[in-house]
Amino acid sequence: MNIINSFDKIKQNIEDNKVNSETEIIAVSKTFPLEHIIPLIDHGHKHFGENKVQEAEKKWKELKKSKNDLKLHMIGRLQSNKAKKAIELFDYIHSLDSEKLANELSKRQKEKGKNLNYFIQVNLGSEEQKGGVEITNLKNFYEHCVKKLNLSVLGLMAIPPNDNETDKHFKKISELNKQFNFQHLSIGMSNDYLNAIKYGATYVRIGSAIFGSRN
Ligand SMILES: *Cc1c(COP(=O)(O)O)cnc(C)c1O
Repeated sequence: MNIINSFDKIKQNIEDNKVNSETEIIAVSKTFPLEHIIPLIDHGHKHFGENKVQEAEKKWKELKKSKNDLKLHMIGRLQSNKAKKAIELFDYIHSLDSEKLANELSKRQKEKGKNLNYFIQVNLGSEEQKGGVEITNLKNFYEHCVKKLNLSVLGLMAIPPNDNETDKHFKKISELNKQFNFQHLSIGMSNDYLNAIKYGATYVRIGSAIFGSRN
């Protein structure tokens, strides 16, 4: 199947299964060269996701100048020393997970006169290799980002543990999202996006099901 067919099919699946909120597809184009991605841009899709600042800069910096309705999402772990570049390049950051990073992003976006949208990443399974704040720190971190820094936090984001208990994790993140009164939720990838929309996902991050498998 080609990229456009795969994408249209996923879009239709979401439309057919949606509960109430609208769900935006973030086409995760990490590792794929721009020529592989362009057909989907020409097809009219606007939201794309990358997980590395340097790669994203190479692929998207010039293109975004000429197509300023493209929306670029940072979905990978972000070091605070890359905050300045991230602010220049991205429109959404899904991996807000430390005060140091939040402070730096806040400072840099003020300098730049830009106002990004953010998701707070939650480490649902306390997995060491994954980013995200622990559930026990979530309230403090929320206060810091929203009350103190005034960042535009749309909702929570999570990559659930790979343990066949996806429902349990989606339920948990969805409950937390409601507790904070967030309007948006970033969950769901190629393998579980239909499940994610049952739990209120408003942004799904889909890579391989659109672009094919990554090496
Ligand atoms: C790579 C990645 C995705 C997309 O994964 P697929 O399984 O290819 O859909 C989604 N979210 C994050 C954070 C990723 O790093």
